[in-house]
Amino acid sequence: MTYRGRLAPTPSGFLHLGHARTFWTARERARAAGGVLLLRVEDLDRPRCRPEFADAMLEDLRWFGLDWQEGPDCGGPAAPYRQSERLAWHREVWRQLLAGGWIYPSPHSRKDVERALRAPHAEDEAAEPIFPAARRPDPDSWTHPADPDGVTWRFRVPDGETVRFEDQRCGPQAFTAGRDFGDFPAWRRDGIPAYELAVVADDHAMAVTEVVRGKDLLLSTARQILLYRALNWMPPAFYHCPLLCDAAGVRLAKRTDALALRALRAAGHTPEALRAGTANPTPS
Ligand code: GLU
Repeated sequence: MTYRGRLAPTPSGFLHLGHARTFWTARERARAAGGVLLLRVEDLDRPRCRPEFADAMLEDLRWFGLDWQEGPDCGGPAAPYRQSERLAWHREVWRQLLAGGWIYPSPHSRKDVERALRAPHAEDEAAEPIFPAARRPDPDSWTHPADPDGVTWRFRVPDGETVRFEDQRCGPQAFTAGRDFGDFPAWRRDGIPAYELAVVADDHAMAVTEVVRGKDLLLSTARQILLYRALNWMPPAFYHCPLLCDAAGVRLAKRTDALALRALRAAGHTPEALRAGTANPTPS
């Protein structure tokens, strides 16, 4: 089977050095395997994703030295390479999950769940709160609609089951459903697929064989493995890269402007030194 890797940036801001180094690893792994690297623009979240960021992203990645064989700018057999153009496929996957009885409509927003679970030590604002099983609806209380819009759809996790996988860099992983993560959104009430559904649908349709991404998505991989199983698809291999932190040890975010690729470029850093890690700029 030919190796197919992917770069899957979200154009919600300027890319920083952390993204670029992870993408560089993806490129090196695709090259070493004699495979193909594709670029998919993850632009589903319309209010957050702006066309000018998408253009800047491609320019910054090329400046850094990255290249890809398939993408929105060069086409390819798995087109389209923008997620916002793949919604018909995402809906089809939603239908398959609905028909299999894997998902249910949930009137509870993330905020409701947070309120119900308020934990004083909940530090990671990005983490999805664990959805309380008691809030799952009675299966007879709703009928199958023709389309997903207007309500959040959640994937029902198998409580107590430990999802295991071998990460190609981090080794064996184990996350228990109902304890480490709960029923997670598959479709958002504003009419777009949730990240987990979209990424699985597209990695599968684009025949991706290995997913290389940041270590912050390790737990998400457990959710995604459950989706692959529900859909009867083979999951790809996974390789999770270390996250780049700033001088204070805080993980870089798109708002860390000083390490944005374009800021580094403007400050005179070369891609060669940034790739090799010999230039170690710290945000001011
Ligand atoms: N688009 C996601 C992000 O930029 C990455 C998704 C993934 O690699 O699975 O955070």
